Amino acid sequence: MLFEIKNIKYEVNDTKIISEKSFKINDGQHLLIHGPSGCGKTTLINLLSGLLKPTSGDIAFENYIYSELNEVEIDNLRFSNFGFIFQKLHLIGHLNAKQNIQIASNNKNSLNVENLIQTLGLKAIENKMVKNLSFGESQRVAVARCLVNSPKVIFADEPTSGLDDSNAKIVIDLILKQAKKTESSLIVSTHDQRIKNFFSDVLEM
Ligand code: ADP
Repeated sequence: MLFEIKNIKYEVNDTKIISEKSFKINDGQHLLIHGPSGCGKTTLINLLSGLLKPTSGDIAFENYIYSELNEVEIDNLRFSNFGFIFQKLHLIGHLNAKQNIQIASNNKNSLNVENLIQTLGLKAIENKMVKNLSFGESQRVAVARCLVNSPKVIFADEPTSGLDDSNAKIVIDLILKQAKKTESSLIVSTHDQRIKNFFSDVLEM
């Protein structure tokens, strides 16, 4: 079992943002979290990755029960096991593509940066400042940065919003293909109807 989520609720000032959710995710399983904007998808990703604490209920990743861990232990768990692809890419504009990938490498399970650059077709742009890259190129750098530590779980929050059909397909294909190579589970949040067909397991919010 990768994740076990038991009766989690998340409230802010008595406003319910997530109400009573229980589900499991198996090793290597991909999950699409689908629903309209504002339904709580990002909040759920933040709960699963330990960035937020549920108001009640519990979350376990493998044998680690979050409520039994302190913040440093959760940070370490996240750093060793999870990779993130955000809608806003959070790349460092004044570093080049290769440096953006290298800087994320924690050297423990790290993949070879050169190989990753080859696989993702980034060789031609590796020395370009990220601020000068197209959005599609930047997105590939962000995917490489996420994968560099071979995460067991890749969280992707709205990875295709703002992309046209062909780029949305390219990005989701790329993430799925790379997840397969690193045997990572992929947890994707989206309101994007176009992505649904790529996933057999969908959690409707
Ligand atoms: P989604 O990712 O599906 O668009 P979010 O998880 O970002 O949804 O947000 C769900 C709802 O919770 C939204 O209405 C948002 O405004 C609200 N929300 C999220 N975090 C907070 C917070 N810290 N304080 C108040 N409201 C919040």
